[in-house]
Amino acid sequence: MVDKEKVEQAVRLLLEGIGEDVNREGLIETPARIARMYSEICGGMDEDAGEHLKKTFTADNNEMVVEKDITFYSMCEHHMLPFYGKVHIAYIPDGKVVGLSKLARTVEVYARRLQLQEQMTAQIADALMEHLCPKGVMVMAEAEHMCMTMRGVKKPGSKTVSVVTRGEFEDNEKLQNLFFRMIGR
Ligand code: ZN
Repeated sequence: MVDKEKVEQAVRLLLEGIGEDVNREGLIETPARIARMYSEICGGMDEDAGEHLKKTFTADNNEMVVEKDITFYSMCEHHMLPFYGKVHIAYIPDGKVVGLSKLARTVEVYARRLQLQEQMTAQIADALMEHLCPKGVMVMAEAEHMCMTMRGVKKPGSKTVSVVTRGEFEDNEKLQNLFFRMIGR
């Protein structure tokens, strides 16, 4: 749980640290506003992907399931700046499937916290492996990192791509290429 009082204190200190007047009109409500915002953007820390993935359905066949272009917003843990983009998920069921909206929910659980993109990609894949026990999972994330585009090297529009394979997708170029084709890459 986000300790709103602590966040408020910290934001006040940060504002002072950058030379702002914390009492000027425009900033009076800012610490409280940011504290509320952090409850939302770090809300995934209080959630368990297993809760979203526990309701499964019997699969009639075990054909690959692909859910592409799941939009996400996360925060890079090195700079506390946003990174955001799309996640694409594929899995090969082993008798069990899950509602498609639950895949998006799973992405949110891991996106809504301070994160590293590669780690988020792996956590999504591992949660699906653990709770859905499929034959294989492949997850790809494509994101723009504000710490790359608004500061530092300043390369607007550049994308960071991370891919994780588990189970039958590992070392199976044919399956991996099928995934890339299905998501249009
Ligand atoms: Zn960063």
